[in-house]
Parts: sequence; structure tokens; C-alpha cells
Amino acid sequence: MTSVSKELSRHIPAKIKRRVLVEAGHRCAIHTCREFEVDVHHIVPFSKCQKHEYENLIALCPNCHRRADRGDIDRKALKKYKVNLRYAHDRFSQLEVDILFKLHNAELDMAPEEKVQAQWPLSMILMINRILDAGYIEVIGNQSSVQVLGMEISPIYISLTDKGREYINSFSATSADSRAILRETGTT
Ligand SMILES: [Zn+2]
Repeated sequence: MTSVSKELSRHIPAKIKRRVLVEAGHRCAIHTCREFEVDVHHIVPFSKCQKHEYENLIALCPNCHRRADRGDIDRKALKKYKVNLRYAHDRFSQLEVDILFKLHNAELDMAPEEKVQAQWPLSMILMINRILDAGYIEVIGNQSSVQVLGMEISPIYISLTDKGREYINSFSATSADSRAILRETGTT
């Protein structure tokens, strides 16, 4: 009897689990990782807290999960990843957050003076309106102009701005720095 109820209580309720996964966009909450295969991890281990609270749960891929269990990613860092993710999603869509991370991560593999330019269809500009308005990305402009029936169909190129770079960096900066950045950008 006791062992059965204990087994059941280890199970994270579906509703809470879903909320944690949606918060992270069903991807690993570590912004430099963003793996698709994720599971829900207790920041303070379940063996210690014996409960499943949303605030204590984070979506991690198996690899980051192992790193967290080993203590390579400590609890303080996990809490910060979670808080930052929530702020970002209150403000931007999942797609917009993904674009910012993707542009930023692509830049990490390049020389510092190089900029990543991603092609984006002009007709879908509204989908990235909020990160454009926030000044986190900029439109580089049409490389070649193509018109069909008087309508501009050429792709545009988008690129991360210094402000956008700073915002993404705030996800891994010290908590004091990132709080200042979040406050300045009106996210809190
Ligand atoms: Zn991961």
C-alpha cells in the first residue's frame, strides 16, 4: 500500500508537466542547447522535496538532465534558465524566441566580425513583428527585388542586433546583470 502510493506520487501530474513543457516550447530550457527531446526535471530533487511544484520543474534534454544531475549545471543556474524563459515567452511568441536563439547560436560558430543573415519571407513579416519592434533583430533588406503582379515577393534578410545579442546573452549572464537587462527592456 505504502509503496504503491509512493510510486504514484513520483509521477508528475499531466497538467503541471504540460505547463512546464509549454513554457520551454517543448525544447530543452538551456538556451544554447534547445534539443527537441525533453523530459521534466526537478530542480530540487524529488527525493528531497517530495512534491511536484511548477516552480521547481524545468524541461531538459537527456544530456542536460545528466549534466544537472552531476551538478555541472547547478540549481541556481537552472532556476535562472527557467525564469528567463518565462519572461521571454510572456513577451514574444515561441517562434520569435526560437529565431533569436537560432541566430545567436549560429553566430557562436562564426568569426566575431561576421554576422548571420537569415532569409525571411516578406509576407510573413508580421510573425516576427515583436522582436523587430523590440529592436532585437533588423531587416537587412532585399538583395534582389522580385515582383509578381505588382506585389513584392522577394525574401528579406534578418540579422541579430547588438541589443538582441545583449538580450540573449542575459540568459547566461550573472543574475544581477540579467535582471538589469530584463528591467531595462521592460520584461519584468
Ligand atoms: Zn539540453
